Amino acid sequence: MIEDVRIARRTGFCYGVREAVDRAKESADAGRRTHTLGQVVHNEGVIADLESRGIATIASLVDAAEGSTVVIRAHGVTPAVRAEAAGRGLEVIDGTCSWVIAEQRQLQRLVEEGYSIVLLGTPNHPEVVGLLGFAPDAIVVDDEAEWDAKIPRRKRMALITQSTQPPWKFERLATLMVGRAHELKIVNTVCPVTIRRQEDTVEIAREADFMVVVGGRNSANTRELTRLCEIVGTPAIQVERASDLTDPSVFGAARIVGVTGGTSTPIEDLEAVAERILATGGTRVAKRRAHELAMAALAAAATPAGRTTSLGEPPQATVEAAAATPPAGNGRARTTSPAEAAVPAAR
Ligand code: SF4
Repeated sequence: MIEDVRIARRTGFCYGVREAVDRAKESADAGRRTHTLGQVVHNEGVIADLESRGIATIASLVDAAEGSTVVIRAHGVTPAVRAEAAGRGLEVIDGTCSWVIAEQRQLQRLVEEGYSIVLLGTPNHPEVVGLLGFAPDAIVVDDEAEWDAKIPRRKRMALITQSTQPPWKFERLATLMVGRAHELKIVNTVCPVTIRRQEDTVEIAREADFMVVVGGRNSANTRELTRLCEIVGTPAIQVERASDLTDPSVFGAARIVGVTGGTSTPIEDLEAVAERILATGGTRVAKRRAHELAMAALAAAATPAGRTTSLGEPPQATVEAAAATPPAGNGRARTTSPAEAAVPAAR
């Protein structure tokens, strides 16, 4: 039976996601009609919170009300999308993560310098789509099985990566490409947050008998955390939310269970999962103290940088005004459609 839970350090939203969420909230709180272009994160609770503040997710700029404010999420967008927003007279709040902006600039420089570019990333992931706006001819590769066939031999080649790709994969691809080019330029754009999160997950996985990884089903960085737990030798399952944990038998004979999450998983979800683990699979004492122990695990893990938001509740008048204002365009202010749910997770 489970006696304790531990939450990995430096989990919760990464700074890029948190910044985009905060900026959307600030805009709505200031009374602006605010949309986010695509879901800021693929998390029902966060989207519901944004909606309660009058912030609607739109899939396309044509859905934005005239004169409204559109928040670009942390993944960034192509230059063409920016130009379209300006052409439509929309106010743009740029929530592109500073790390992603740096990636975009580096990619643009590689294009100007005439390199044949290989981009390690998940095709159709919003960040990769945005990056391709700066280097339309870049070859996108993902699974190792496809590298050999997709990567040509060229005199001058460059390798760059989507921010959340695993470092080991980037290094392995770099090794392969050494033999494919006379001159190879390697630009390591794996985000430090991704690296730290993986380190902290491994640390907790070594202490725990079982790991629960929280994040979107399609989130590559979340899947990588699950894989790392297994490499360490600690059995792990991946869930999207606390209510996914229904069968305590999955914990086996575990006494200590570790919890970690992807870069778009709010810290509150980790606390809820920790509590659920104890409430379903804990000893009698752990069940009774589930909330207290989960809060203690969170307090031991979360630094101020791991908070979901630094903002308070919105002024009530703003919420009411925003709720009373229908979305413009074709009126399709939306949350998650099944089609969107099938899109790779935000992070
Ligand atoms: S994972 Fe890194 S690059 Fe991506 S949004 Fe978060 S902080 Fe920015």
